[in-house]
Amino acid sequence: MTFQLNTSLTIALGAKTAQSLKKSFDMHTVEDLLRHFPRRYAKRGELTPMDSLQLDENVTVMAEIQSVKKRPMQKKRGHILEVSVTDGSASLTLTFFNQDWRERDLRPGRMGLFSGKISSYQNKRQLAHPIYLLAPDNEDLDPEAIETFARPLIPVYPATSTMPTWRIEKMLSLVLDGLSESIDDGLDAEIVGQYSFYSLFESFQKLHRPSTLEEVEAAKQRFVFLEALQYQLILLRNRALYAKANAKPVTAGANSLLATFDADLPFELTQGQLRVCDEIFGDLAQPHPMHRLLQGEVGSGKTVCALRSMLRVIEGGGQAALLAPTEVLAWQHFRSISALLPQNINVTLLTGSMKAASVRNALESIADGSSNIVIGTHSLIQDRVEFQNLELVVIDEQHRFGVEQRAALASKAPAGLRPHVLVMTATPIPRTVAMTVFGDLDISTLQELPQGRKQIETFVVDMNAKPHHVERAWNRIIEEVSHGFQAYVVCPKISPKVSEEQDAESNESHLNDVEGVMKYLSHGPLKSLRLAQLHGRMTSDEKETTMQAFTLREIDVLVATTVIEVGVDVKSATVMVIMDADNFGISQLHQLRGRVGRGEHPGLCLLMTKADPDSSSRIRLDAVASTLDGFKLSEVDLEQRREGNVLGSQQSGVRSSLRLLRVLRDEFIIESARSWAQSILEKDPDLTSHQQLRMSILALENQSEAEYLEKV
Ligand code: ADP
Ligand code: MG
Repeated sequence: MTFQLNTSLTIALGAKTAQSLKKSFDMHTVEDLLRHFPRRYAKRGELTPMDSLQLDENVTVMAEIQSVKKRPMQKKRGHILEVSVTDGSASLTLTFFNQDWRERDLRPGRMGLFSGKISSYQNKRQLAHPIYLLAPDNEDLDPEAIETFARPLIPVYPATSTMPTWRIEKMLSLVLDGLSESIDDGLDAEIVGQYSFYSLFESFQKLHRPSTLEEVEAAKQRFVFLEALQYQLILLRNRALYAKANAKPVTAGANSLLATFDADLPFELTQGQLRVCDEIFGDLAQPHPMHRLLQGEVGSGKTVCALRSMLRVIEGGGQAALLAPTEVLAWQHFRSISALLPQNINVTLLTGSMKAASVRNALESIADGSSNIVIGTHSLIQDRVEFQNLELVVIDEQHRFGVEQRAALASKAPAGLRPHVLVMTATPIPRTVAMTVFGDLDISTLQELPQGRKQIETFVVDMNAKPHHVERAWNRIIEEVSHGFQAYVVCPKISPKVSEEQDAESNESHLNDVEGVMKYLSHGPLKSLRLAQLHGRMTSDEKETTMQAFTLREIDVLVATTVIEVGVDVKSATVMVIMDADNFGISQLHQLRGRVGRGEHPGLCLLMTKADPDSSSRIRLDAVASTLDGFKLSEVDLEQRREGNVLGSQQSGVRSSLRLLRVLRDEFIIESARSWAQSILEKDPDLTSHQQLRMSILALENQSEAEYLEKV
């Protein structure tokens, strides 16, 4: 028989092998195995560079045996066999306990694949009890090895200790030999023709058993394109669903709340803000739900746009909800929005840590409609929250929310209707990323910052090379405070590691936790100032009180974790010192420093680091220091860490499963997949004549839902 994609591995390879593939990789079908793509390819005779091997990493290296030593164990009976393998310059030790018989095979000069977890013994890297496959020589004619080492390129698969790469290769070989040539992934012949893709059958053959790396690249194209197409189909179909759904059209109301609000604003709206609001109002007026992303730099004034949209809705008698990613941000929105709005508009706060009685009151006023604007965290999504007339949902700092949460909120509109949805993000993203991550949304962009906004200067402080600059940083804070300003000191952790505690007492350069920094600064360099801490382990009342005191300038310096990362807006805060800044990602640093320089006064951000000047962490910090352009930074970010992280679980379930697609590298493919997806859906909106694509999309969506459910 020939194998189809959905043939079970039990049938293809037997129950025992199928069982171990299921256990190691959760594979069930021939397709699951075929889609286990090689991580890289080893050329026979081309040795794996060893200086790049990381401690604790599971590796498979191609290496040559240099020497073999046997010595008695020191404390126990028996022998240790120490085999030194080399890549030509560096070496690695393989150790075997009481397995003297291995000496017969492991002879100097022989080459092989060695697989195991890198550990360290007496400062030398080693593989303890590795599994290996030796290249055949005259005396050893292992048939498995002959087949593997005869390949011009040996595929190296993600492997486990019980399932080495060469076993996977062997199973794939069996499956590929029996594979039906007519397997199909549902790509239109027209698409295959236009891009000259290999057939699906050939693509698998060439990925798993290539002659050249060019062949691998060419074979990958089909899979990359298919993946891009699947995402675009999902996103466009979501979009089509919104377009069909009903929403209450919202137009200017009689009681002109908006006009009053504008007249009372302490500043002029920028051209950009007016334009964005017009785009939003245009959407709101439709009988179908808005799904719009508002992206704009940190400090560009997105909140006012959201607020004006909410007022529009309230004018017409509807309710609006504002969803914030953290409690700190929810409170801040609550305070600042309440302050900007006239008394007759009811703003309600709902967060997870409120007392039962306040929650009850909040829920009541949300349900009976007396509350006009509801501000909250995730707790807004819960079932027990019922709105009387929810017409607009604003989601602040979208990168913290997944599609699923958006959907949960959307279901809270009156029966038969969906709310208009506005999502806001200050982590600007390149076009292709936007297309992949937010392809179901229309996008508005706030380009300019409000007038008079001062720049933020950012410097990297190398704590190793320039310890005296650390002292200067503290002096700088004292100086700013003496001029009536305030400061943040941001730490990666709340408490020190137990083992570090002693060091922390004596050595300032080890300080990277809120408690330690607080102790050090308040007894040392900043003892003349009023300090307070803010972090996630405090109760919400404590946090709230502290934030309020800071806003009222009763506190000079806030020593905090990243709870202040998004949206916190205290205009007189002008300096930020970030401890061990290399612990943070690019967009996080960009967000963090956006907390200073928000008033008329320039901001200063000091990135403290002990990272090596040539390290990739340092390159990241230098990039952040070199520009305030969030778009540029997110490209650096994407290049440095693969999209997997950037688009990872925090963004949304669907996107976290990107397998081969790389959004920057594959820009062209994503764009063409987008237009193909459009033209497919034009002719076949329900994909009835694209069953295979339809099924694979459903599978992707289910998988992302499953991943999401696992996380909550
Ligand atoms: P973000 O886009 O980062 O969420 P905010 O909406 O918090 O920015 O706005 C940052 C600050 O700028 C707020 O204090 C806000 O009141 C102020 N602001 C907004 N629009 C303007 C404007 N047109 N002119 C001056 N200040 C503005
Ligand atoms: Mg904001």
